[in-house]
Parts: sequence; C-alpha cells; structure tokens
Amino acid sequence: MKKAKIAIVGGGVAGVTSAIYLAKLGLEITLFEKESSFVSGPPFCHLHAGGNLYREISDEQCIKLLKQSIDFLKFYPFVVDYRPTVIALPTTDKQTPNQLLPRLELLTKEYKQLIQKDSSNKVLGEPNNYFKLYSREDLEKLKFEKASSKPKSSDEWMISVAQNINFDKVQFPLILVQEYGLNLFRLASGATLILEKMNNVTLKRTTEVDNIQKKQEGWLVSYYNKQENFDYIINSAGFRTGKIDDMIGVPCKRMVEFKAAYVSHWKSKEQTLFPEIIFHGERGTPQGMGQFTPYPNGYFQLHGMTHNITLYDDGLVANTPLSCQPQLKQNFIQKIEKSWNKEEIEERTKSAIEHLSRFIPNFSEATVGSKPLFGAQQIPGDDPTLRVAEVSFPTKGYARCEIVKVSSVIDMVRAIQKELIKLGYLNTNNEASISFDILREEEISSLAQTLCEQREYPRSLGCRNIKNGGN
Ligand SMILES: Cc1cc2nc3c(=O)[nH]c(=O)nc-3n(C[C@H](O)[C@H](O)[C@H](O)COP(=O)(O)OP(=O)(O)OC[C@H]3O[C@@H](n4cnc5c(N)ncnc54)[C@H](O)[C@@H]3O)c2cc1C
Repeated sequence: MKKAKIAIVGGGVAGVTSAIYLAKLGLEITLFEKESSFVSGPPFCHLHAGGNLYREISDEQCIKLLKQSIDFLKFYPFVVDYRPTVIALPTTDKQTPNQLLPRLELLTKEYKQLIQKDSSNKVLGEPNNYFKLYSREDLEKLKFEKASSKPKSSDEWMISVAQNINFDKVQFPLILVQEYGLNLFRLASGATLILEKMNNVTLKRTTEVDNIQKKQEGWLVSYYNKQENFDYIINSAGFRTGKIDDMIGVPCKRMVEFKAAYVSHWKSKEQTLFPEIIFHGERGTPQGMGQFTPYPNGYFQLHGMTHNITLYDDGLVANTPLSCQPQLKQNFIQKIEKSWNKEEIEERTKSAIEHLSRFIPNFSEATVGSKPLFGAQQIPGDDPTLRVAEVSFPTKGYARCEIVKVSSVIDMVRAIQKELIKLGYLNTNNEASISFDILREEEISSLAQTLCEQREYPRSLGCRNIKNGGN
C-alpha cells in the first residue's frame, strides 16, 4: 500500500463524516475548517427518509433518499430525534392526499426489501407502520385523549396534532410517516468528540485553505503563510466548493441557494410533544410549503417556502464560465459571515409564525425564539429541484463533495473509499462505523448545548425529544 496523506477542506457534515470514516479505515487525515467549530454551516432538521416533503422529485430520488437515510441513521444514531412527520394537504391545494399514496406504498415495499436484504436496516420501525392515514373522524376521537409525555405509537403522536390544527383548513386523510428529525448541534458535538479522540486525524480549526497547487506528485496546500504537501484532496467546502475548484482548475456546473429557517417559542406548549408537521404548498408562492419542526421546551423551527420567509429574491445563483464559484449577493454573504439585523429577524420570524398559524390557530401566540438558522446550500448541475447528490472526481487525486441533503454523506464517502482503493491508498472495502464505547451521551448533550450557546441559540436546540426510536 502507498501511504497517503489526505487533506479535507471544510468541516461541515461532509468533511467531518469523511474524516471519521476514512480515519477509521486507517488513513492519515488533516481536516481544515475556517470557522472555530465543526458543522456550523447551513442547518438540517429533517431526515428525508423517503423524500415525502418533495412532491416534485422522481420516485428514484425518493427511493435513494430512503436508502441513504437508513445508512445515515445507522452511522449517526445519536443525531436523530425519533419523532414522525405528519403531512397535510391544505384545502386550497391542487392535489388530494390519495394522489400521494402510490409513492408511500412504493417506499413501504422498498423498505421491506431493504430489511429482507439486511435486518439491521430496520431503523424506521415496522415496515407496515411506515405510514398511516388519519381521517377527520379518527382525529375527532383523538382530540379528547390525554397526550402522552413519551409518545410511542402513531396514534399517541397524533393527539397533539388533533388538539391543535384547524380541521377545516386541511384535506383528509392526514398522513403520518416515519421521517424523523435531525439535530445539527448533536452532530457537531458527537463528530467533534470522536475526531478529537482519533490519533490519525489532525484538526485545523480557524484555518482557511487559501491556495492549492498541483505538484508532480500530489498537491501543495497553503493556509496562513504555511504550506504542506498532500497526496489527495477532498473538497467539502459546502457552498464555497467552487473556490476550491478554481484553485485546482477543473470544469464545473453548479448553483448555490441561500435559505433560512426561523426559531420561534410557544410558551404554552413547553410541555407538549409534537411530531413535525408539513403543510404542502407550491414553492415560491404565498402558499409555499410550511414546515413546523419541534424541539424541546416549546421551541419550533419554521420554514415557509415563500419569498418573505425561507426563500429570497436572488437567493439562487449559478456559476459562470469565468468561475466555478456562484456569486451570492453581498447581503447574503454579510448574513453568513457577520450577522442579521434585528428588524429582519423579527419581520421574517413573525411572517413564519403567521404562515403556520393559518393551520395551527393558537400558534399565533408564539414569539421570536432567537436568530434564524440559515446558510447557503450547493446544488450540482442546473436542476434546482435536485435533492440527491454525492461526489465527483474531476481530476486525479481530487474528490469534490456536493451533497444536497445530509443523508447522502455515507454514499459520498463510500464512493471516495472506492477511488482511494483504485489509487492504491486503501485496500479494504469494509464499511467503517462509529463504536459507541468512545462516546458518552452526557458528553454529546453537554457539548451540543455549549455549541448552541456559543452560536447564540437557545440551549434547547441542542436537545432532542425522543432518544430511542424504531417504534
Ligand atoms: C435553510 C436550510 C435548511 C436545510 N434543511 C435540511 C434538512 O432538514 N435536512 C437535510 O438533510 N439537509 C438540509 N439542508 C441542507 C444541508 O444543510 C446541507 O446539505 C449540508 O449542511 C451541507 O453540508 P456540507 O458539509 O456539504 O457543507 P457545509 O456545512 O457548508 O460545510 C462546509 C464547510 O467548509 C468550510 N470552508 C469553506 N471553505 C473553506 C476553506 N477554504 N478552508 C477551510 N474551510 C472552508 C466552511 O466554513 C464550512 O464549515 C438545509 C439547508 C438549508 C440552507
């Protein structure tokens, strides 16, 4: 075997997962991250285990999202908040719930087959419970049940929905599906704790890579007036992937999109557990999809796919023939690198609360919980609806990661593993996994909450409601 030194540029979910996985296989890794902590980029709150939030994507993408989410959940179980998602179609929607059923049936069949292939894939509960339908009569009955402090069954999860949504604003049946929550702060915490314990990983935080040059053998990486030679580069720089492509000099085609989700607090529901609730709607119109994502202690993260909430005019940009790096307008870069102004936080969070209150009337009493969770997301190619992407290898010794959803990282790093085998840097096809004896729940939870505080978010965002899943 040739001994390889690997540089990973960018410590978001793609970079930290590559570092953990490849270091587990014995490779020598240096991880560069320009910020002071890992996984501080765009947010993620939803495990797209079936892609049911995206009616516009193909069945193939949905099946891939299901499979990738199962792999992700097996690799990072401590990141998952085991609560289901409820999908509602507003009465104003062009579609009916029954039109969504063929895809749900297809996904159930796929999930069954994945379990038949490997029983450890059964991480989303019983396949026959992958989704469940609720009529208006079912909800009228559940409305009078006492809500459980530890909901397990689908019916128990539906009680808070039955007690809080306006039945006249949605079509029936409602659909409950086993798409769970994800916690960014717990991923940042757990990955940091693992990486700090690995002897073959050098962590370079607050270190921006400012140049990469091709050498006869390998690459010369420059950062802060220092230079170091590497055999292989993994570009996991998120929406700045194009800058690294420009340094390397490879062809490219991509977009980046700035988006934000808003943090609200609903004081009177501090003790109530909700599933995530999706109110479908046409993206970019005033009726754009509303997403109501619960965290402990009455905090709710909100998306509204309209231009005055999650989306922004000019928020989606493509690269040009002159540079691989799409140029976001300065006001977005200002938000990402410095801060938001208070008025905009108030205005957009209140619009998000109003957007969701159309269906959950008492939610109008919610208040602004903190600054938003936000960031720019990379999308390879020229299809802005693409939801599944992993990695490409545009030149020898260079992997370019461009995930759109976090669940793609395991397929992404397995593809890199295959490349490293081809180059003679690795000789094992084995899959790496995290051994939990090196991770303690109290440590993960405590660092996750500290990261929330350092990044000026409520500590509750570093906690999850339900720790053990697979109902
Ligand atoms: C509002 C919003 C909501 C989202 N919700 C979900 C969701 O619910 N579920 C889901 O699966 N996905 C979601 N996503 C997508 C998800 O956030 C991204 O897919 C994911 O975070 C991308 O991870 P990454 O590691 O590729 O990039 P990033 O997290 O952006 O990481 C890149 C890192 O590289 C560092 N970097 C860049 N250049 C350099 C350099 N030159 N030197 C050193 N470091 C550098 C950056 O500081 C950054 O930390 C959402 C995205 C947005 C915007």
